[in-house]
Amino acid sequence: MIVVMAPGATEDHIREVTSRLNLMGLTVHLSVGAERTVLGAVGDPGGVDFEDIRRLPGVRDVVKITAPYKLVSRTFQPENTVVHIGATSIGNSRVAMIAGPCSVEGEEQTNQVAEALARSGGGILRGGAFKPRTSPYTFQGLGEEGLGILRRAADKHGLGVVTEVLDVGHVSLVERYADMLQVGARNMQNFPLLREVGRSSKPVLLKRGMSATIEEWLLAAEYILSSGNRQVVLCERGIRTFETYTRNTLDLSAVPVVQQVSHLPVVVDPSHATGLRDKVGPMARAAVAAGADGLMVEVHPNPERALSDGAQSLDLAQFEDMVKRCRAVAETVGRAL
Ligand code: PEP
Ligand code: MN
Repeated sequence: MIVVMAPGATEDHIREVTSRLNLMGLTVHLSVGAERTVLGAVGDPGGVDFEDIRRLPGVRDVVKITAPYKLVSRTFQPENTVVHIGATSIGNSRVAMIAGPCSVEGEEQTNQVAEALARSGGGILRGGAFKPRTSPYTFQGLGEEGLGILRRAADKHGLGVVTEVLDVGHVSLVERYADMLQVGARNMQNFPLLREVGRSSKPVLLKRGMSATIEEWLLAAEYILSSGNRQVVLCERGIRTFETYTRNTLDLSAVPVVQQVSHLPVVVDPSHATGLRDKVGPMARAAVAAGADGLMVEVHPNPERALSDGAQSLDLAQFEDMVKRCRAVAETVGRAL
C-alpha cells in the first residue's frame, strides 16, 4: 500500500508513519516527488489497519496498490524516473542511443564503433565482455580485458558504458568499469543477481526475458528497486513466438503498456528482436514512433567478421543512416534524438 502525505506534512510526521508501518511488519520506501510525498509500504498487508494509518497526522490518504509490483508502479511514483548515465539521460524528451558491438572483440573494433556513435550525437557504448552464449563452444567474451577496452573507447569519445553482468560474482568487477549494468534476457529471473545489482550504486538495464510476460518483467524490476536501487531502465528485446522469419517477435506494444503502469523508462533493442540487419532500421523507427525512451542497437565495423550476432549487426554507415532516419521520426513525434 502507499501512504500519501498531506502537503504540509513534516519529517516528524513521516517518521511516525514509518515507525507505525515498521511495527506492522512492513518495509517503507520513501518517494519525494514534485507533486507529492508518498511512503510505499511493502510486505504482508495482513496485519495492517488502514484506518489507523489514515488517522495519523500529516497523512492525506492510504491507497492499496492492487498490482503485484509496487515500487515500479505509477501509483507509487507518478513522475517518470529519469536515469543518468554519464552525459546521457534516459526517460526524458530525448531518445537515448545505446549502440555497440554484440561482443567486445578488440581495441580497434570497439574504438571504431565508439567514434561512429559519438559522430552521430553520442550516447552509451554497449558491448559484451561476459557473453551468455547458447552454446558453450562459441566465443564467450574477453572478460576483464573487454571491460577495459570498452571503458577506454568510451572515455576517448565522451560516452557512457553499459555491459552485461552474467553472474553475481562479477558485479563488483563490472561496476568498476561500467556506468550501467545490463541484466540479460536469460538472467531476467536470476533472483540472486537481481538482488545483487539492486544493491549497486550503478543504474541497471533490465532486458525482458524471451518468454516473460510484462508482469514478470516488472516483478523482476521490483526485485532491484526493493533492494535499494531505483535507477532501472527496462529493455524490450523481442519475445519467442511461433514466428520463424524473425529471430524473435518485437513486442512494441510493451512500450505504451509499461509507460502506463510504471514510471521506469523503457528502451527497445530491435537487433535481438529481429535478428536481421535489414529489419533493424524499420523497427527502430517504429520504436521511436511508439514512444520508446531509447534504442539499443548492435553495430560492428565489419559485421561479416563478427564473433557473435553478425547477421543482426549494422555496419557503421548503416548505423549512421539509421540514426538520421530515427531522428526525423523523433522530431515528428515531438522528441529529440
Ligand atoms: C546482448 O544484449 O548482448 C544480449 C545478449 O541480449 P539478450 O540478453 O537480450 O539476448
Ligand atoms: Mn548480441
